[in-house]
Amino acid sequence: MEKLRYERPIIKKLNTGFVNKFGTQTKNEVVSHLEGASVKELIHQYGSPLFVISEKQIRRNFQHASRVFKTRYPKVQFAWSYKTNYLNAVCRVFHQEGSWAEVVSGFEYEKALGNGVPGNKIIFNGPDKTEEQLILAAQNNSLIHIDHFDELYMLIKVSEEFSLKPRVAIRVNMDTGIYPKWDRFGFNYENGQAWSAVTKIIHSGLLSLVGLHCHIGTFMLETAAYGIAATKLSELAHKIKANFGLAVQYLDLGGGFPSTNTLKGSYLPGTDTVPTIDQFADTISEAILGAGFDQEELPLLILETGRALVDDAGFLLGTVLANKRLSDGRSSTILDIGVNSLFTAFWYDHKVTPAQEGGQYTEETVLYGPLCMNIDIIRENISLPLLKRGDHVVVHKVGAYNMTQWMQFITLRPNILLLDQNSHPHVIRQAETLNYLQSGELVPEHLAKSSLS
Ligand SMILES: *Cc1c(COP(=O)(O)O)cnc(C)c1O
Repeated sequence: MEKLRYERPIIKKLNTGFVNKFGTQTKNEVVSHLEGASVKELIHQYGSPLFVISEKQIRRNFQHASRVFKTRYPKVQFAWSYKTNYLNAVCRVFHQEGSWAEVVSGFEYEKALGNGVPGNKIIFNGPDKTEEQLILAAQNNSLIHIDHFDELYMLIKVSEEFSLKPRVAIRVNMDTGIYPKWDRFGFNYENGQAWSAVTKIIHSGLLSLVGLHCHIGTFMLETAAYGIAATKLSELAHKIKANFGLAVQYLDLGGGFPSTNTLKGSYLPGTDTVPTIDQFADTISEAILGAGFDQEELPLLILETGRALVDDAGFLLGTVLANKRLSDGRSSTILDIGVNSLFTAFWYDHKVTPAQEGGQYTEETVLYGPLCMNIDIIRENISLPLLKRGDHVVVHKVGAYNMTQWMQFITLRPNILLLDQNSHPHVIRQAETLNYLQSGELVPEHLAKSSLS
């Protein structure tokens, strides 16, 4: 017979009959396995903390989103947003599914080439493109999305110098009813700046205007905003057609669809409140189909959705280091997962589940990370079974932005595993070592010798 698990005693105020905002207390959810792979085993083999990405879930998300859009609009192309998660293995899963690449920096551009994406299927966004990068992108026939007038003038200059005719779009910002407005990227629609950029491009004769782009925000909860954006881009396309006889080939509606994470401060969990991808697809396709394009000039719809396709494919496994009573009497639990690797803990109340059975009692606790930094908090308040040192936990929906925005601070970054479609684990990024960390450091001659002995 298995030894019973020791449960430490707790003192708890009885509120019999009370319900919380989700009804009566539900049974504690335990997640001991990810797609059949044991959390305990994975940690034993690959260390703690440990990022785990499900290839199956990425493909499922992509195929679902693709089907949802393609059943509503005849011409759809997805482009994977590299900054959301640019691990090569992750990008390659998206490219295998048919996604182009959407990049916002020179090194992301090179990563996309390295992942086998043909130049003409790379979209180059962002306010920071150097002259060299613009030349390379133009030579590769990539889609260059112009962000500001200085970039436009630079591109005109190099196109003339190097006899290039780059394919370009402009990024357009606009009032979509969401405030504060995202007006720092691209050219404004309402004040005529976007139109001015269009006319400069066409009159230059040196650039080929093939598309119009916008990316109106991130974790957007209003589908209507996309309807407004699609309508305004369509109006701009019509105006270009009417004035210059030029039919733009595509409208790129960017990304920004929410994942099912729960934003901090929201009353209900994300799973209950965020619109589905179907609702976004309905709004966008209705707006473009209703905008009066000739059948043969219906633009390709490009989507650069990032977060919504990868967030729930990522998990962060960790271990309890200690329990501690705070001076005000609250309980706290220290995990080996810090905000340096879980950057999104600043925005989300992540779902955290124990990886082993923990008895029937629960306790409200603060989940701290291991850093010597006061703001290292994973959850400010969560109800969990009584965890003890050495127990494991799973943090859910961490696939977006964590593996690109993480910081090397105090601890080294952990292994990242990909569970393939047969649940076989593959290390896709090795845990950092002190050597890796110091590889770029140099010690000046006069500091070579320590005077302490
Ligand atoms: C970040 C970004 C995306 C992806 O945004 P999500 O909110 O993750 O969908 C798409 N396009 C551009 C231009 C971006 O900067």
